[in-house]
Amino acid sequence: MLPDYVFCRNEFSKYDLELNEIAYNKLNIYCDFLIEYNNYINLTAITDPVEILYKHFIDSILMCKYADLSGKESMIDVGTGAGFPSVPLKIFLSELKITLLDSLNKRIEFLKKLCDKLEIDAHFIHGRAEDIAKMPEYREKFDISCARAVANLSTLSELCIPFVKVGGRFISMKGPSEDISLAQNAINILGGIVSHETKYNLENEERRIIEIKKISQTATKYPRNSSQIKKKSL
Ligand code: SAM
Repeated sequence: MLPDYVFCRNEFSKYDLELNEIAYNKLNIYCDFLIEYNNYINLTAITDPVEILYKHFIDSILMCKYADLSGKESMIDVGTGAGFPSVPLKIFLSELKITLLDSLNKRIEFLKKLCDKLEIDAHFIHGRAEDIAKMPEYREKFDISCARAVANLSTLSELCIPFVKVGGRFISMKGPSEDISLAQNAINILGGIVSHETKYNLENEERRIIEIKKISQTATKYPRNSSQIKKKSL
């Protein structure tokens, strides 16, 4: 169980986020189900409800504060794991159209059950981003692609930018250590430019949101297959 509603609402308000009771109840169901399911399959190393509140829920939802979302976008969450950041965001922004992509089917099965419990509409894809981004039904089809804690920015750009329509954005949630300049070449090659970077603190830890705007189509040879990506970044 999360701490009570008043406590959680106060914690959200420290970050200028308004938590209503409906969203609180959904986050509570999410927290309990995450902890319970984590006994059977590995979903997260964070199992204390107060830490889940900050490190998973508030962290994910802060994207809507720092990345300027209208709340109606189509968004693909690449390497979503246990649903972060897009499921907490969807609880907050009910009109967001989320697609959850992960290479581990056990996590996708968890997410289907979770979204059922939360009465949330979502689209689920089991597969590797390198393969799914080549499929015509997903390529350059989303307003936004996002990722948290999946890979370095250069690799992530190759996995995420191909999903985005020209004019859309790839939003990357990062800790303090990422050197954007190392990904600059990859971002250019894939048709993007870094359009915005925001630094903020979450419980005294530095966080960053890097927004990459897509300004031209991605060449069809990208993303390369996973062994090529591992061997040499763009
Ligand atoms: N985004 C979640 C979060 O912030 O808690 C999960 C992060 S977890 C460290 C990385 C996730 O990315 C795992 O669930 C893994 O299965 C998935 N993943 C890694 N490489 C992937 C790929 N190439 N395509 C799809 N999913 C991938």
